[in-house]
Amino acid sequence: MNIAERLHRIWATLPEGVQLVAVSKFHPVERIQEAYDAGQRIFGESRPQEMAAKAAVLPKDIEWSMIGHLQTNKVKMIAPFVSMIASADSDRLIAEVEKQAAKYDRVIDILLEVHVAEEETKSGWDITELRSYIDSGAFEAMPHIRVRGVMTIATNTNDEAIIRRDFDKIRSIFNELKPRFGEAFDTLSIGMSDDYPIALEYGSTMVRIGTAIFGAREY
Ligand SMILES: *Cc1c(COP(=O)(O)O)cnc(C)c1O
Repeated sequence: MNIAERLHRIWATLPEGVQLVAVSKFHPVERIQEAYDAGQRIFGESRPQEMAAKAAVLPKDIEWSMIGHLQTNKVKMIAPFVSMIASADSDRLIAEVEKQAAKYDRVIDILLEVHVAEEETKSGWDITELRSYIDSGAFEAMPHIRVRGVMTIATNTNDEAIIRRDFDKIRSIFNELKPRFGEAFDTLSIGMSDDYPIALEYGSTMVRIGTAIFGAREY
C-alpha cells in the first residue's frame, strides 16, 4: 500500500469530527508531500529544527503540530508558524510559548500533556501539579495561548487492560478540566498507530498516527 491508500483506510475508520495528525517525524519531505497531495493537512513533528526545515519547503497551508518534548530555548524556532503545541508539559514552557506568540502577534493552540502512563520516564504534567498551576490563574494572564485540551501517551505495553486504564484516566481528566476552560477546550488527543482504535472508544478527538501511514522510522 502507498501513503495515499493507507491514509484513505485510516480516514474511513475515524468518526466524524476526529482529527488525524499524520506524524511525519524522521520522514523526508517527499513523503509528506505525498500525504499532502492525498488531502492530509495536519502533520506532527517531534523536533523543532526538523519541523522548521520542513515547513520552509512544504505548502503553507499545512498545520504543524509539535508532539515531542520541547525545550524552552527552542520555542522561538517554531513560534512564527506552528499551529499547535500538543506537548505543553511545564509552566516554564507555557510561559515561553506565551512570550514568543506575543512577539509574533499570534495565538498558539496548546494541549496540556498529562502523565498517566506507568513508566516514570514519560513526560507530562503530574495532575496534582497541573491543577494547582491552573488554580494559580496563570492562563488568565496569557492572551496569546489558547488551551484546546489534553494529550497523553499511553503506557508502552501489549497489555490492553493497562492501555484502557490510561485512556480512561485521561478521559476523566479531560472531563474534569473542560469546565475551567470553556468552549475552546474540545480536544482529547489520544491514540497512535497501535492503539488508536481503542482510543476512539474513549472519546479521542485527535489521533496521532505515524507508522501506519509512513511505515517504520529510521532513527
Ligand atoms: C511518534 C509519536 C506518535 C506516532 O507514533 P506511531 O506509533 O508511529 O503512530 C504519536 N504521538 C507522539 C507523541 C509521538 O512521539
